[in-house]
Amino acid sequence: MLAAVLHKAGDVRVGQVPDPRPAPDEVLIRIRACGVCGTDNSLYKGEYPANYPVVIGHELAGEVVEAGAAVHGVSAGDRVTVDPNRVCHACPYCQSGNEHLCESLSSMGVHRDGADAELCVMPATNVYRIPEGLSDEEAAFTEPLACAVHGVDLAGVRLGDTVLVIGGGPMGNLITQCAAHAGAAAIIVSEPIALRRELAQAHGATHVIDPGRQDVEKELKKIRRIGADVVFEVAGNNAAQAACIPLARKGGTIMFFGVSPQDRLIQVNPFAINENELKVLGSFNNQFATARAVQLLSSGTVRVRKLISHTLPLKQYLDVFRLFGGRDTMKLMVTTG
Ligand SMILES: [Zn+2]
Ligand SMILES: [Zn+2]
Repeated sequence: MLAAVLHKAGDVRVGQVPDPRPAPDEVLIRIRACGVCGTDNSLYKGEYPANYPVVIGHELAGEVVEAGAAVHGVSAGDRVTVDPNRVCHACPYCQSGNEHLCESLSSMGVHRDGADAELCVMPATNVYRIPEGLSDEEAAFTEPLACAVHGVDLAGVRLGDTVLVIGGGPMGNLITQCAAHAGAAAIIVSEPIALRRELAQAHGATHVIDPGRQDVEKELKKIRRIGADVVFEVAGNNAAQAACIPLARKGGTIMFFGVSPQDRLIQVNPFAINENELKVLGSFNNQFATARAVQLLSSGTVRVRKLISHTLPLKQYLDVFRLFGGRDTMKLMVTTG
């Protein structure tokens, strides 16, 4: 099959690799669409650890072509998306309901072969049916949306809250939509790219800030004198992370959602965290949020169609890294077959 393989940082090649075969508890999926994640770009830049060589990509929608002998309830012809994270079901985290923190976590497109390919295999327990009426490209948003749902759950957004979202890319947009549906009354998105600010406003942001020209803290405090109830840092930008501390109100929550390069440090003022009783949290993958993400997409509660800026065939996969993060780029979607 054709696949985009990450050989090492900065070295992705599109070429033929052997077809995967499903184990008895797995299904073989023909991939139709795979969204490009910030994680894919971090992997390419060497900022996120991977098991080389590995087929990149994990935000997929496709069709089951074969089910292993021990699989029940999923069969050939089913349109599906997946939770790309394999877990052990046996470690202290799995056994306490925190499978996303599994000690033996193995994620497709990172630790084992992923979905920028014509085929992939997944355990049947990771597979979710795509309802009628949801396109492959929309269904490919299931995994990032599940992560956004988890982040908003963890941050504890409440009815009437003021939420600040730093970073208006695809993930910031999904968090904006989820925060709006969780009841936030004011959602302020800080984003330097004009297209992303426009899309934020079209998807539930009540205010936007251009951090390239405006002072984020000053603009935020014109809207809410005491600061935001919840601040989401979605860009993984270290300067923005460090600058979050004075943006939350006393007792507020700062959520580090964006992925920072693994070896970076930031400087914060612990006195301010203590004095203002701030909660500084992280959000990783998702905790059983995949089925809810499918529901949000199929009901039209979360809208993703306008978030796709480019659709590329798999054979042109390398264009992804030219387009990623560009002024006209939102979600990049790779299609197969
Ligand atoms: Zn992702
Ligand atoms: Zn485990």
